Amino acid sequence: ERKQLYRLRREPTRTLDGTDILLYANAESREDVADAHALGAAGVGLYRTEFLFLQREGLPDEEEQFLAYRDAVLGMTGRMVTIRTLDLGADKSDRSGLTLPSEPNPALGCRGVRLSLARRDVFVSQLRAILRASGYGPVRILVPMITHRGEVLEVAALVRQVARDLRSEGHEIAGHVPLGAMIEVPAAAIALPGFISDVDFVSVGTNDLVQYLLAADRNNEALDTLYDPLHPAVLRLLRDVVRTARARRKPVAVCGEMAGDPVFTPLLLALGLGELSLHPATLLEVRRAIRGLDLVHLRARTPALMRARDRAGVERWLEAARPSA
Ligand code: PEP
Ligand code: MG
Repeated sequence: ERKQLYRLRREPTRTLDGTDILLYANAESREDVADAHALGAAGVGLYRTEFLFLQREGLPDEEEQFLAYRDAVLGMTGRMVTIRTLDLGADKSDRSGLTLPSEPNPALGCRGVRLSLARRDVFVSQLRAILRASGYGPVRILVPMITHRGEVLEVAALVRQVARDLRSEGHEIAGHVPLGAMIEVPAAAIALPGFISDVDFVSVGTNDLVQYLLAADRNNEALDTLYDPLHPAVLRLLRDVVRTARARRKPVAVCGEMAGDPVFTPLLLALGLGELSLHPATLLEVRRAIRGLDLVHLRARTPALMRARDRAGVERWLEAARPSA
C-alpha cells in the first residue's frame, strides 16, 4: 500500500478525464523543500518564512535569508518557489523582538503584511533577499493577511523600488517576480474583483479564512465543530474567489490544510480549483485522489454542492462524489 503510493511520485497529477492539476508543496523547513522535489511537486506553493525567524534569537539579516531562499530555489531545480513574506504576529511566540509583546487579540492584530508595513526595515531586507534569490530560478512573492487594496499597492511599489535598487547595485535578478495575495481575510475574498488586476496570482489560506469567516479561533479545540471548512459560507466564498481569478486568467490555489486532505479533493475540484498547495506528507494521497476523479462529472455536480444547506448536506455530496472503487 505504501509502496503503491510511493510509485505515484513519478506519475502525473491528472484526472481520469485528462485534466492536469498543479500540486504544489507547502514548506516550512529545508527538509520540506527536499521532500517536495522528491515527490514531484509542481513547485513550492507556500514557503513559510517564519521558521527563519522563530528558531533563533534576534532577526535573520538579508544575507542569511538570501542563502535560505536561494537554497530552496536551487533545490527545486527550475520549478516555481512561492515565498511568502513574514507572517508573524503576537500569536506566535518569537524571540526576534519583532512583534509587539502582547496584544489583546493577536489574530486580529498586527500580523502578516500589517507587521511588515509597520517595520519597513525588516520588510525591505526580506524583499531584497527574495529578489536576489530570483536570480537563481523562478520565484514568486506571496503576501499574507491582505485586507485592503492599498496594502497590495504599497507592497507592489516597495517591490519595484527594491528591484531598482538591487539592479543599480549590480545584482542579477529576474525581470519580473510575480506578486500574489493570500486570500485569508473575508474582506479580501469579497473585495477581490476590485484588486485582482493589481496582483499576478492569489492563494487562498483557508486556515485563516475559515477562522475569520466563522468567528472561530483555529487553535481553540473547544470550538472544533464550529471551526468548519465545510460551512456553506466557506464554499460560496471559495467558489467566488476562484471565479473572479479565473475570469481574469490569474492563477488561483488553495494552500490551507483543506488542500492536504484527500477527502476534500472532489469538493475543491468541483469549486473550480486547478491548483492546490499542501504539505508534502499527504501530497501523494491527494495525487492518488485526483487520479481517481472525473472532472467533467464533478463539475456537473457543482450546483448540487452549492445547494447544500449545512455541513451534513456537504458531507452527503462528498459521499456521493467518492470514486466508486
Ligand atoms: C492559511 O491561513 O490557510 C495559511 C495557509 O497560512 P497559515 O496557516 O500559515 O496561517
Ligand atoms: Mg494564514
